[in-house]
Amino acid sequence: MPDLTMTIAGKPEASKETFPVLNPANGQLIAYAPECTPELLDAAVMSANEAREPWLADPAARSSALLDIAARVEGNVDELAALITEEQGKPLHEAKDELVAAVGDLRYYAGLNVPVDTVADTDDLYVQVLRRPIGAIAAITPWNFPLGTAMSKLAPALAAGCTVVLKPSPYTPLSSLRFGELVRDALPLGVLNVVSGNDSLGSLMTSHPLVRMISFTGSVATGKKIAVTAAADLKRVLLELGGNDPAIVLDDADVDAAADGVFANAFANCGQICVAIKRVYAPKALYGQLVDALADRARAARLGDGRDPGTDIGPLCNPVQRDRIQELVGDALQSGIRVATGGGVTDGPGYFYEPTVLAGLNGHERIVVEEQFGPALPIIEYSDIEEAIAEANDSHYGLGASVWTSDPERGRTLAPQVESGTVWVNTHQAGIPGQPFGGLKWSGIGVEGGPWGMLAYTELQAIHTNRLSH
Ligand code: NAD
Repeated sequence: MPDLTMTIAGKPEASKETFPVLNPANGQLIAYAPECTPELLDAAVMSANEAREPWLADPAARSSALLDIAARVEGNVDELAALITEEQGKPLHEAKDELVAAVGDLRYYAGLNVPVDTVADTDDLYVQVLRRPIGAIAAITPWNFPLGTAMSKLAPALAAGCTVVLKPSPYTPLSSLRFGELVRDALPLGVLNVVSGNDSLGSLMTSHPLVRMISFTGSVATGKKIAVTAAADLKRVLLELGGNDPAIVLDDADVDAAADGVFANAFANCGQICVAIKRVYAPKALYGQLVDALADRARAARLGDGRDPGTDIGPLCNPVQRDRIQELVGDALQSGIRVATGGGVTDGPGYFYEPTVLAGLNGHERIVVEEQFGPALPIIEYSDIEEAIAEANDSHYGLGASVWTSDPERGRTLAPQVESGTVWVNTHQAGIPGQPFGGLKWSGIGVEGGPWGMLAYTELQAIHTNRLSH
């Protein structure tokens, strides 16, 4: 494929240094991506900083630019989806879904105004509360939803009047670089810069003095490092981190319906979703049936190259992730748990791992306690619902959770007892652009989505006017 370029100050930029990007379905080279040098990063951040004033001053231009970007993404869905599948591994239809959601974010924020509140308006006093954009933002994204996570940052940040330097993961830089090329002339110079590079480039971004906020999606370990770096300069942070989402199946659930929902939300994108279901709590009476139903669905799923229309589940995105799943399943096997189905890597090239369902766990195995981020799902038996909720809450994570029941009202009543940023009833991962999304505890700081997601890129300013003339 032709070399893709970074977008810096509105212009294409290559680099003498490059790094390889591999297709996880076969381990083959797709392309080399430019490794952004410190000098080019400096140019990107300076151009973002210089572009702030005119961008802030024109909300109507911001709105129409976001609509223009949405149309360009929509008009190039096939090309962008193919790139996502090639570099990340997910089935093509999932890559298209990712882009549909991204376009939805762009259109939603194009229609949102930054509010001004009036808290006093009398003959002698006028007090307004404004929201000022924070400034130049470093947006750093992971490899599981390269453009989905990018757009959930760019859309609200640009709508709020901020300017952005975006860095995708070194595993999946191509779709973001191409996106930058496609929208380069839709925005004033410097408003959006797209750079690519390894983790060290992320560190340079987060310590750059002109960056005033770091909007990060990725692992807890990196999120903690970023929080430390940000503290030195009191940069603002928005951290969307990992999850270990429990699904709690209630004793009145329809096993087949619950199994359909749990399976889809545990194994989509090969389990590599921050809000995938990562552990299931099932009541004693339904336990065996639910394990069997989930194992049946895992056995029926077709594993393959995401570009093949028959594929249900693609490969893991990289060998590190595949080795981690192997290690966590291996660790659980040593504790004497039962493999209902799966449990191994598949032959041939590519980073494939069989869809795996694990039973007979006591809830203390590493694969229950840690975020596995892959296609291996532990099912834990419980005796009473209070015990299940307590076990679900006994976690450093608090991103999402779900309750599965034939009585949605019962589920809704139980939901607030679960410690997570979102609790779903009879679904998981579902969202609309107007809904906040974020994590409690180690799962993050701040939210994306809805008006809150845009206000995250602003700071309050009070204008207190004494109307009595002096
Ligand atoms: P990661 O933390 O390894 O990397 C994410 C990004 O951070 C990459 O672009 C990487 O180059 C960069 N980076 C790495 N070290 C850095 C540093 N010291 N300073 C600045 N940037 C640095 O995460 P990953 O493996 O790409 O993604 C998987 C993780 O992301 C999982 O834990 C998953 O749950 C999480 N995730 C969370 C959400 C959410 O919205 N909460 C969404 C998707 C993924």
